[in-house]
Amino acid sequence: MQTVTTNYALSGWRGEFANAATEQAYRKHSEVDSARSLRRALLIWASLVVLFGLLDYPVLGHGYDFQLLFGWRLATASLLLLLYWQLRRNPSLVSDGYAATAAEVFGSVLFFLLYFLRHDMVSWVIGVVAIALLALFMFIPNRVYLSLLAAAFLSGGMMVCVAARGHGADKVLGLAFILALPTAVGFFTALRWQLSQRRQYALLMQVVSSNRELQDEIKRREALESELKRQATTDPLTGLFNRRQYEMLFQRERERCARLGQEMTLCVMDLDHFKRVNDQYGHDAGDAVLKHVAQHLSCALRHSDIVGRFGGEEFILILPDTGLEQAVAVLNRLREELAQTPVPVRGQLLPVSATFGVTMVQPDDTDLEVTIRRADVALYEGKGAGRNRVMTA
Ligand code: GH3
Ligand code: MG
Ligand code: MG
Repeated sequence: MQTVTTNYALSGWRGEFANAATEQAYRKHSEVDSARSLRRALLIWASLVVLFGLLDYPVLGHGYDFQLLFGWRLATASLLLLLYWQLRRNPSLVSDGYAATAAEVFGSVLFFLLYFLRHDMVSWVIGVVAIALLALFMFIPNRVYLSLLAAAFLSGGMMVCVAARGHGADKVLGLAFILALPTAVGFFTALRWQLSQRRQYALLMQVVSSNRELQDEIKRREALESELKRQATTDPLTGLFNRRQYEMLFQRERERCARLGQEMTLCVMDLDHFKRVNDQYGHDAGDAVLKHVAQHLSCALRHSDIVGRFGGEEFILILPDTGLEQAVAVLNRLREELAQTPVPVRGQLLPVSATFGVTMVQPDDTDLEVTIRRADVALYEGKGAGRNRVMTA
């Protein structure tokens, strides 16, 4: 049996599985959920971008600055909605994280514009950027290190803006510290969450795999059990019921027929001059004839009839719900079919015939031996009378 070992080791700083194939499988597994969360985040994000645009108007009027800012807001919202739409059609877009990162980077530019155009809220913009950094890690499903890159772009961009405005290195450094705080909180929170999601996934996969192994083991045991049952109840050469099994079935059917007031017959069948087959064609040819006859019996009789190998070239046929007259008719038909169908063995056709001894199963036949002995008497009468015939007792 081939065993597949999957590596569930985690890379602590990336918040992902160290093994690329395992990571791939995990992302595929959580793809639909992640895509749904990202779509929801994009919708909220796009609405906020447009809604906050309304606050620009009272301050900027409808001059060039407002148009530029509102144009950028609309472009951002359109991009987010486009991504939302694409994700509906193709959830796998979420898997590598590039689409979400691109949206994060594009969205960051709005803050740079706000910093330059909304003179009234310069210090506020820094606060909003800090919140945006937290939101970026917590509400937008993305790979942690890609979120970190987007956060670095936003923080770095803000620092460039502040420097471009003529502020000194001390201000820029101060800003770096302020923005590093939400970035660190967001990063470590997202990292912990990603790691715990993957630990749960690893556990789930291990349970699934144990379950599969258990199912395979159950199937293997069931197959083994049915094989053992088959071996315990059938004769290995012919596949017919062995003595223990037909004895049990005889008792069951006898009781059932007695309860329902039905007749039941039993027949012992013995192949004629079988020793000659062995002597002339060999033991293997004899075995082939026995198999052929067994198959013929199984096919020719009713499904409810019981066919067993009594030993050697003798067979037991138990016919429930069948009277003596009816049994004789059935067995005569069988006898004729056997006699008229030579058995093909190694390119030769070997003629076969059999003699049948039939008896009714009596209410006090609690021992199968008693019934068989009665049928045997009829069988030997048949042998004496020239074989290839059905005799009753
Ligand atoms: P009769 O018509 O009187 O029944 O003659 P017969 O030759 O069939 O009777 P007998 O009891 O003398 O011989 C039975 C032969 O069946 C003996 C043995 O060689 C053969 N035989 C018994 N079991 C097997 C078996 O499993 N395989 C093969 N090939 N032959 C078997
Ligand atoms: Mg015999
Ligand atoms: Mg015989």
